[in-house]
Amino acid sequence: MVSTPAHSYHARSLLSDDSPSSTISSSTRSRLEESLQLLRQVVETYGEGLALSFNGGKDCTLLLYLLCAALEDSETMRSKPLPTVYITHNHPFNEVDEFIDQCVSRYGLSLARENEPMKEGLSHFLSSSPIPVQAILVGIRFGDPYSSNLQDIQATDRGWPVFTRIHPVLRWTHDEVWEVLRAIQLPYCSLYDHGYTSLGGTNDTRPNPALALPPNAQGVVEYAPAWKLTDSTKERDCRVKK
Ligand code: FAD
Ligand code: MG
Repeated sequence: MVSTPAHSYHARSLLSDDSPSSTISSSTRSRLEESLQLLRQVVETYGEGLALSFNGGKDCTLLLYLLCAALEDSETMRSKPLPTVYITHNHPFNEVDEFIDQCVSRYGLSLARENEPMKEGLSHFLSSSPIPVQAILVGIRFGDPYSSNLQDIQATDRGWPVFTRIHPVLRWTHDEVWEVLRAIQLPYCSLYDHGYTSLGGTNDTRPNPALALPPNAQGVVEYAPAWKLTDSTKERDCRVKK
């Protein structure tokens, strides 16, 4: 069973006019409606064969919340924890690992940490899962590299382990993701409050230069939170190119 965090709102109240989320703009509400509709559909279609890919980033944090909302609305009862896969990073941030641990207990996830490259890690996840996994939710968005040809639901590409990929937040923009996370006060990884806008590992991620504040009296540069990024084309500028 995926347990819903105590502070959360049911999908119906998430979209109602008197909930704290009523500050959400009408275009972002449409986004919410579309994603919830897709999630309700895949919950019905795949049932317990549905899994989640989760790396502690803001996009899959939103996705996990929306999945909880869709499950609350669903006729299909889940009796088992949600199978979830995290392909670990060779140079992980403590903040990311701590946030993932918090999510495991907050949402009641059955998390597999795979210490292999992505294809091999996914393959091992599928072969070792006690529940046969048919479909995996992925929090990729059109703003991410190599995503322009993706569809809401599709098979994996040739050369990848065989399953169905589901992309419920594909059309969300960086601003829309932050609008909702902040409106519903959903807990997210603390690195985003320190200028990180996209999370990799300690060896390839730094605070986003576009969020640098003027140096303080000691000459130390601090960074504004990720949601203050005004030019979303710079979301990945915190990734160090190697
Ligand atoms: P991010 O915003 O960092 O990640 C987008 C989403 O990917 C996250 O919200 C999360 O759901 C998932 N994800 C990213 N990193 C991890 C991780 N370390 N552990 C668990 N989940 C993670 N590429 C192809 O070319 N063909 C495929 O068929 C294909 N199938 C995939 C199936 C799955 C289940 C996943 C997770 C990835 C797949 N990919 C595939 C790779 C995918 O297209 C992205 O390149 C990859 O998710 C990295 O995303 P990002 O760094 O660009 O963006
Ligand atoms: Mg992302």
